[in-house]
Amino acid sequence: MKASFFDQNFNEINAQFLEHNLHPSGASLLYNWHYKLKQFEPCKTDLALKTQSFLRENYDFTLPKIVVAKESEDRTVKFLFELHDGKRVETVLIPFIGKYSVCLSTQVGCAMKCSFCFTGTQGLTRHLTTSEIIGQYLGAWDWLRTHRPSELKIPNIVFMGQGEPLHNFDAVKKACEIFLTEEGMCLGSRRITVSTAGYLPGLLRWKDEMPQVNIALSLHSPFEEKRNKLIPINQRYPLHEIVEVLDQIPMRKKQFVTYEYLLIDHYNDFEEDAHATGELLKSRRALLNLIPFNPFPGSEFKRPSFERVEAFKKITESYKVPSMIRGTKGDDILAACGQLNTK
Ligand code: SF4
Repeated sequence: MKASFFDQNFNEINAQFLEHNLHPSGASLLYNWHYKLKQFEPCKTDLALKTQSFLRENYDFTLPKIVVAKESEDRTVKFLFELHDGKRVETVLIPFIGKYSVCLSTQVGCAMKCSFCFTGTQGLTRHLTTSEIIGQYLGAWDWLRTHRPSELKIPNIVFMGQGEPLHNFDAVKKACEIFLTEEGMCLGSRRITVSTAGYLPGLLRWKDEMPQVNIALSLHSPFEEKRNKLIPINQRYPLHEIVEVLDQIPMRKKQFVTYEYLLIDHYNDFEEDAHATGELLKSRRALLNLIPFNPFPGSEFKRPSFERVEAFKKITESYKVPSMIRGTKGDDILAACGQLNTK
């Protein structure tokens, strides 16, 4: 079976060109064609015939295909991508103040089984490859180019779709390298955020290998016991250990860790929860993202009232923790946080 071109980072393609005595500019040309110009057909422009036949024989250029694109009233778009083996994942394009973010999936299903998450009910089927991750971004970008050309700006990336990104560390790391590399998409590291439920083995590697990329932690409760119920891996990798590692990430100026807090009615939205969250974050480089829960079919939890959300925010702000309430985007098409499921 041929390797996917989109699984190769720039150094790997470059090394292949050197090893096969191909023209050394080939790797840059290819990266420019696919990632800067965002052309999906194999490149022929300026490539020697020998190089073209090498590429044909050794690489596959197919990408996941969009089989459904659902547009929400608020202009959020949820894509269903089909992968080479027929498995499907969802990707969400989210409009936000004149720009877009693409929320990427990293696994088919997820092993973490968070109790508030639709994806968690699926279990893990398999990890995505780098090309399947990159392909979601390119596919969403291409949809924007075709359907909303006047709004075509390079979207930011959030790894918050289906799957725990740090559980699929190597593929996600390589996808980030391709997003970041100057020869590729050349996105600034501040435009990418990787969100974790607190998968410690992956976080330890991320701290050492990719500290420049923003990290978000699904906090959801400052109390270990409550968090155990929401995020079962907290029993194995407790919050206090996760926060200790987050504190060790070397950060550039204006970089911070985003703490996501899903507010669930009469579960984790009490005053004592807000005070403990303020205490936990007050001396950290933290941004608190408050997300009112998005109900999904069969869920035992409910969304809190606007007043309870506001009251929670007010208390955490009294600890000088910067916070924002994240508007619920796309919940009419089940594209909001925790609602993704391809079954
Ligand atoms: S919230 Fe994220 S980590 Fe938890 S089950 Fe859902 S997809 Fe997995």
